[in-house]
Amino acid sequence: MYIDGAWRPAAGAETIAVLDPGTEQEIGRVPAGTADDIDAAVRAARAALPGWAATAPAERGARLAALRDVLVARKGEIAATVTAELGAPPAFAQKVHAALPITVAGSYAELAATHAFEEQLGNSRVHHEPVGVVGAITPWNYPLHQIVAKVAPALAAGCTVVLKPAENTPLVARLFAAAVHEAGLPAGVFNLVTGLGTVAGQALVEHPGVDMVSFTGSTAVGRAIGAAAGAAVKRVALELGGKSANVILPGADLARAVNVGVANVMSNSGQTCNAWTRMLVHTAQYDEAVELARAAADKYADRIGPVVSAEQRARVWSYIDKGIAEGARLVTGGTEASRTPGYYVRPTVFADVTEEMTIAQEEIFGPVLVLMRYTDEADALRIANSTAYGLSGAVWAADEAAAVAFARGMETGQVDINGGRFNPLAPFGGYKQSGVGRELGPHGLSEYLQTKSLQL
Ligand code: NAP
Ligand code: MG
Repeated sequence: MYIDGAWRPAAGAETIAVLDPGTEQEIGRVPAGTADDIDAAVRAARAALPGWAATAPAERGARLAALRDVLVARKGEIAATVTAELGAPPAFAQKVHAALPITVAGSYAELAATHAFEEQLGNSRVHHEPVGVVGAITPWNYPLHQIVAKVAPALAAGCTVVLKPAENTPLVARLFAAAVHEAGLPAGVFNLVTGLGTVAGQALVEHPGVDMVSFTGSTAVGRAIGAAAGAAVKRVALELGGKSANVILPGADLARAVNVGVANVMSNSGQTCNAWTRMLVHTAQYDEAVELARAAADKYADRIGPVVSAEQRARVWSYIDKGIAEGARLVTGGTEASRTPGYYVRPTVFADVTEEMTIAQEEIFGPVLVLMRYTDEADALRIANSTAYGLSGAVWAADEAAAVAFARGMETGQVDINGGRFNPLAPFGGYKQSGVGRELGPHGLSEYLQTKSLQL
């Protein structure tokens, strides 16, 4: 475990095996942390809090810039590690898994130095102060990005952190801890405990020395964490699942909208919380869109990486079986293994999917796209808003104003208009059951601050 600025043995002897999902072979082992390790890490974070909170924001920014520079220097190693433990194809691991955390760390180096930590309101001076010790719990799908999207803003705000990363991808988390060490952050400001969610994760959520829990993962676990944090009156940020709609309005460039939409779902083998997993097409263009989607998906058959684990593949396959059983039309893909060894799932497209079907409602987290038909814009909006989720989405139209007007009606935290690029400064987070709070950019920094008003 990395606690109080040093690597130290875990309290217990248990370990967790890490598998390469492309080979099914064990590639390493990490200690399985217990409540004792969490307690040691939280104590270290509490002890480091007053000093770090009192550090000038520009100095915190300088430390984050140093951390960013170490991540840059270790970019190749990071990408190789994510390829090994997640199965991400090497080019995608470089371009996204390694590059995005560098961008985000850099953004918080700058925001720490420039953020207004003080404001004047009438006769009050309002100080934006760190929330305190943050317990961060992260998933495996974008393993380093999700760590940096919590740790960087927390440190920028003046908080200290204990991280419990996903059991499937602990190696890149260890690499991150080594980078923090190399960047010269003071002891105890960042601490890492690897372990199981039900043991180390739960101990972190319940620890009285933790002021805020920031969680990314499934809605089921997020609900339980939110309840526990609420009972203890801790601040909580939840970044949960999604079932985002890609709405193609008549007049849009259909081929482009379908191709970009399919690419969006297939990237990272569909293991993306903000993926546009429901494609909504006008009934007049529906058959053409289905053919375009089939052709686009088939191009990924040889390019796609495995999903993270045998368990995840079984979940995805069970959703595919359910789609067929509930009457959806399997256009391409399915549950036959495309390659062995490795936890591969064939790029899969379903047509004739209707709102009440399970595959139209639940997050599958695999390379599975469903196409739904609508009759007019009001129908499209009703379908787009017909799930419990609201994380992301897309609208394509002949003109931007029409797409923006439609997007304003969507119950979701982000919408990409006619292929608008991902913005690492834009607030990211969910409406409805996709979560509570926002990550990234200045909004992500505010999550880790609380206000104190001095009346002068
Ligand atoms: P998960 O169980 O929610 O895991 C997320 C993180 O929470 C992991 O670090 C996990 O540890 C930890 N955790 C699990 N139970 C906990 C508990 N009781 N208390 C505290 N922490 C706990 O998600 P998953 O099992 O990896 O994936 C299941 C499904 O969740 C996926 O199929 C997908 O639908 C969804 N998911 C969504 C996102 C997203 O970004 N929105 C990310 C990942 C998964 P362990 O690693 O030990 O479980
Ligand atoms: Mg789990």
